[in-house]
Amino acid sequence: MFERICIEVTNSCNMRCSFCPNPTLKRQRYSLPFNLFKAIIDDMVCNNLSSTVSFTGNGEPFLDVELGHKLEYCKEHGLKVVVTTNGLLLNKAEFLIDRVDALYISWQTINGNSFALRRANDWDYAAYENNIIEYLKRVVKINACSPEIYLSIMLNAHLPKLMRALMADRFDSLLNQDELQLMKVLERMHYAIREIRGENLSTLQKRIIADIRKGIVKIHLLNNIFFHIGQLHEWGGLLLETSDSFCKLPTEQGTCRLMLAGPQIMADGNVALCCIDAEGCTKIGSVENEKLSNVLRAKAYSESYNGFKQGVVFQEYCKKCKGLWRHRSLFRNILFFLEDQSACLGERL
Ligand code: SF4
Ligand code: SF4
Repeated sequence: MFERICIEVTNSCNMRCSFCPNPTLKRQRYSLPFNLFKAIIDDMVCNNLSSTVSFTGNGEPFLDVELGHKLEYCKEHGLKVVVTTNGLLLNKAEFLIDRVDALYISWQTINGNSFALRRANDWDYAAYENNIIEYLKRVVKINACSPEIYLSIMLNAHLPKLMRALMADRFDSLLNQDELQLMKVLERMHYAIREIRGENLSTLQKRIIADIRKGIVKIHLLNNIFFHIGQLHEWGGLLLETSDSFCKLPTEQGTCRLMLAGPQIMADGNVALCCIDAEGCTKIGSVENEKLSNVLRAKAYSESYNGFKQGVVFQEYCKKCKGLWRHRSLFRNILFFLEDQSACLGERL
C-alpha cells in the first residue's frame, strides 16, 4: 500500500512562475477526463493501493472544471484528499471545506518583488495576499475543523540560482531576509484574523523564527492553520538542464523517498515515477490503456521500486536527477557538491 497516489487533474496553470517548468512544458495541455479519474479511484479502492489521493503535479487544480465532482467521488469512497493550489482561485473554493482533508496553499513568494516572478497576469502581491487572508478569515469564522490548511513557503525558493547561493556562504543572510518578509506577512495576518491575537504578536513571531531555525517544517498558527516551511528544489535539475547544469555525474546508486511514497498520474493518463519529473520522462505506463494496478505490477515500475529499496537506480532520468529526496553515496555527494561549487565559482568570476 502506497503512502499516497498523486493525480494531476490538469496541467494548465494561471501563473507562469519563472521557478517552475510549467510555462515551458513540452507536454500538451490536458485535464484528466472524469471517466478516467473514476476508473483510477475505483481501482485504488478495489486493490487497496492507498487511502490517500493527492491532487498535485504540474498545474493548478482549480482550473479543472470537474474538480468538485472529482473531490466528491474521492470522499464518497472514503479516501483522504490532499489538494495543492497556488491560491489565486480560493475565492471560489467554499466547497473545499468539507471535501478536502488537507489544503496546501503554495504561497512561496512573500513580497512584491518575488511575486513578480510568478507572472500572474493582472494580479499584484497585495491582492494575492489579501485573497489568501480573506479565505483564512472565512474558514476561521465558520470554525471549520477541516481541511487542515498549510501555507507553503519555500524560503529561498524564489530563484533557481539561489541553489548555488545556498551552497556558497550566503545562506544565513538570505534566510534572514526571508524571515523578515515572513514576519511582515504574519503581522498583517495577525491584524486581519483577530483570533490569532490569542497569542501575542511578538511571542508568535519569536516562536516561528525559533521553529524555522530548529528546522521544524509544520508550524502551528491557529486552529487548523499552519505554516509549512520548506527549502527550495529545482525539479530534479530540469530547470537548469538547458544551462548545462543538469547533473553531470549520473549515479547508479541511491534511493528516492518521493518515488517510494507513490506514483504520479499525469493529466494525459500517463503514469510517471514522481511529480518532480514534470515532463514525464520516467513514464512507466498509461491508465488509458490499462488499470493503474496493472501498471504498478509491471516490470517497468517494480524494477525502479525494488531498485530504490535496495539502493540501485534503474531509470536513466533518475540517474541524473538532483531530486530533493535523492541520497547519493558519500563519494558521489562530494563530487556533486564540487561540481556545483565550481559552476558557482565560474559564475562569480
Ligand atoms: S509553480 Fe505552481 S503556480 Fe507556478 S507555474 Fe508552476 S504549477 Fe503554476
Ligand atoms: S530520482 Fe528524481 S526523477 Fe527519479 S523518482 Fe526520484 S525525484 Fe523522481
